[in-house]
Amino acid sequence: MLTIKNLHASIEGTPILRGINLEVKAGEVHAIMGPNGSGKSTLASVLAGREEYEVTEGEVSFKGKDLLDLSPEDRAREGVFLAFQYPVEIPGVSSTNFLRTAVNQVREYRGEEALDAVKFLTLMKEKMKLVEMDQKLLSRALNEGFSGGEKKRNEIFQMAMLAPTLSILDETDSGLDIDALRIVSNGVNQLKSKDNATIVVTHYQRLLDYIVPDFVHVLYKGQIVKSGTKELALELEEKGYDWIKDEVDSKA
Ligand code: ADP
Ligand code: MG
Ligand code: MG
Repeated sequence: MLTIKNLHASIEGTPILRGINLEVKAGEVHAIMGPNGSGKSTLASVLAGREEYEVTEGEVSFKGKDLLDLSPEDRAREGVFLAFQYPVEIPGVSSTNFLRTAVNQVREYRGEEALDAVKFLTLMKEKMKLVEMDQKLLSRALNEGFSGGEKKRNEIFQMAMLAPTLSILDETDSGLDIDALRIVSNGVNQLKSKDNATIVVTHYQRLLDYIVPDFVHVLYKGQIVKSGTKELALELEEKGYDWIKDEVDSKA
């Protein structure tokens, strides 16, 4: 589904990604871990097509298309979803319209019929249930102080509504409590299918107790320096990153 070859990217002239190689197949969950500042969010942003990042070398193909050639909007229509690329809002009146437009754009692109207001509301209610989102939020004003957990639910809710082919979840450092973690993970796990894939960026191994990855990659200084299975995450939890840094730095 996704093939990244020798990807290099810079921000404001500073190289951040220095030759990323990664292959993600349909049905797989990949976790990207790594110390702060290693380039995890940069990778997520580059895949989503954020404009402040300049790709200086390499290729990314998504479902056989050159992803780097597509605008962020077209990437989204092709089924790439980056959590946080949509406004962080509780779905109230205007964000409901916003979301309906986004959902219908994606459907149109896929050759599916647009949802009318009633069908859209039905879909919304179904997906809100999935993330245990209170339907009262539908009538609540926008952007009123919502918790980290509510933001995350909203993110997964948007993901559920858009049914992406490739979801990229970049964990913020905002602490999720155990309930939010469970709800978010349940949502992700329920949306998992043989036709879609997920990249979870996290530096918390505990998230991976809930969202069990098929592969774990360690990003360090803009490169994937180690890949493994779930056990690698446990090893990192136990030993930290220093041994990996030492391994890489001694070779440099
Ligand atoms: P991670 O998500 O792994 O913590 P990031 O991708 O956010 O890492 O950041 C990677 C590196 O890029 C960091 O060293 C960070 O300081 C740097 N960086 C991020 N944004 C900018 C920017 N606008 N200008 C210069 N450097 C940046
Ligand atoms: Mg960071
Ligand atoms: Mg980050």
